[in-house]
Amino acid sequence: MTTSENKTPTNFIRQIIDADLEAGKNAGRVHTRFPPEPNGYLHIGHAKSIVLNFGIAQDYPGGQCNLRFDDTNPHKENIEFVESIQQDVRWLGFDWEDRLFYSSDYFQQLYDFAVELIKADKAYVCDLNAEQMRDYRGTLKEPGRPSPYRDRSVEENLELFARMKAGEFADGERVLRAKIDMASPNMNMRDPTLYRIRHGVVHHQTGEDWCLYPMYDFTHPISDALEGVTHSLCTLEFEDHRPLYDWVLNNITIPCHPQQIEFSRLNLEFTVMSKRKLTQLVAEGHVEGWDDPRMPSIAGLRRRGYTAASIRDFCHRIGVTKSDNKVEMGVLENCIREDLDKNAPRRLAVMHPLKLVLENYPEGKSEELEAANHPKDESMGSRTIRFTREIYIDQADFRESANKKYKRLVSGGEVRLRNAYVIKCEEVIKNNQGEIVELRCSYDPETLGKNPEGRKVRGVVHWVSAEYGVKAEVRLYDRLFSKANPDQVEEGGVFTDSLNPDSLRTLTDCYIEPALAKAAPGERFQFEREGYFCLDRQDASAERPVFNRIVTLRDSWAKIEQQGKT
Ligand code: ATP
Ligand code: MG
Repeated sequence: MTTSENKTPTNFIRQIIDADLEAGKNAGRVHTRFPPEPNGYLHIGHAKSIVLNFGIAQDYPGGQCNLRFDDTNPHKENIEFVESIQQDVRWLGFDWEDRLFYSSDYFQQLYDFAVELIKADKAYVCDLNAEQMRDYRGTLKEPGRPSPYRDRSVEENLELFARMKAGEFADGERVLRAKIDMASPNMNMRDPTLYRIRHGVVHHQTGEDWCLYPMYDFTHPISDALEGVTHSLCTLEFEDHRPLYDWVLNNITIPCHPQQIEFSRLNLEFTVMSKRKLTQLVAEGHVEGWDDPRMPSIAGLRRRGYTAASIRDFCHRIGVTKSDNKVEMGVLENCIREDLDKNAPRRLAVMHPLKLVLENYPEGKSEELEAANHPKDESMGSRTIRFTREIYIDQADFRESANKKYKRLVSGGEVRLRNAYVIKCEEVIKNNQGEIVELRCSYDPETLGKNPEGRKVRGVVHWVSAEYGVKAEVRLYDRLFSKANPDQVEEGGVFTDSLNPDSLRTLTDCYIEPALAKAAPGERFQFEREGYFCLDRQDASAERPVFNRIVTLRDSWAKIEQQGKT
């Protein structure tokens, strides 16, 4: 399997398509669709389905993929979600061209197909209420019992169904059911509901035209067939619905019969993926909104600084199979790390500033130093940084004393300032509480771009000019949950119990090099020795720029850092 971004790895679904093409099925056409319900923002699980469906359309000659809103549940859906979904699919790099559809586009046709089923005595109006219906339905061990309304005449069914549509009955008073098999071992085949009544909701597409709404299991196969879809890809929980998908298409007059193929959902450690739970996180204020950078939503990942390419790469790496599993967060993090290691310009930023004065550097003097934007890619050019008598380094880069393993600055010791000179710590200034507030140092003017004579200086630390540096806020994000599987809840608990209280740490007094102050919202950088960051979407009233930490530096770097601390 290849992991390169441009070449999509094959999978069992592509193999089925290959075989279908070989056998001359579907007149050589390949047509998929991505069918979100607009009841929330898209998440990284949806990205798996998008990359699969649109990826197939891209890779097969003449392939097409539709975007279809599965909008049969109006009370949970709205136009904000419809719009965000389109934005996210586009941002991920995919195009449905002129094939944007809504299941609600087909409400009249669906109704007509339901009438066709009634006329063939394959559907009936049932007056049982929800509880009775459950009772009649039986269990996995026991067959169901036929509804007392199962043998209504075709004429009576036609009349009642027309009156349901006309709004004569209340919600829940009557439903339309398929007449299949109450003894089927597959519960989905025990006369499933096809239509229910919903008054008083304004549908975002059809307004108040309908009070009768078709169920997913009826809508989906017909929408697929009407659009000429050849392969209808869905997640594994629909496997038991496939006989119903086929039953619907086999019992109406429609020339197309797409093939439903199921694959396993993406589950990610340390987060939740169900839209119900994500909605709850937003509604209860555990996060800032759907685009909170800790959310697994596409909007959240985008704001966090993930690139579309890194998400596509991730979807390729996890592959498409039928086996359920949970993917480690590290797999996703590695995708963005690899992307940014290659593509993000390097900058200097100090998170926990400690003032450092170079006593032998003239007051008022400043130098423009050349700093490469990328250590391995000259084509990314360079920028100038300002060197001055007063600078900031990170508090973590100084210790009064330490053993030889500590490669940073100690009292009386030397260290190189990144892209600049070697300095030596001459004196440590403390406040009344004994806290270090300033370092008095000297610099060696002979060490710009070359090693000092006769001695070795191993450590390099980053810094920002106190005079030219710009104050910034930095948000350090961590996993949203502290448990790998937040869906597993202790008895009497709720999934929000395992929210990570430290998922956001805000540093308000950071210093960034001036070049960073000109960044555009969403622009990504490596802050040397700190990690990858992007400028948050800029609020015009914000006093200072806000940077989101996308991801920490490589794990191997973390290990080196760890050793340095011992
Ligand atoms: P939820 O259960 O969280 O509400 P859903 O499956 O109902 O999710 P839809 O909007 O209906 O969400 O999903 C649109 C498409 O995306 C479907 O084809 C669905 O199978 C797929 N999808 C949703 N979640 C995942 C996931 N975690 N992994 C892979 N595909 C997914
Ligand atoms: Mg759904």
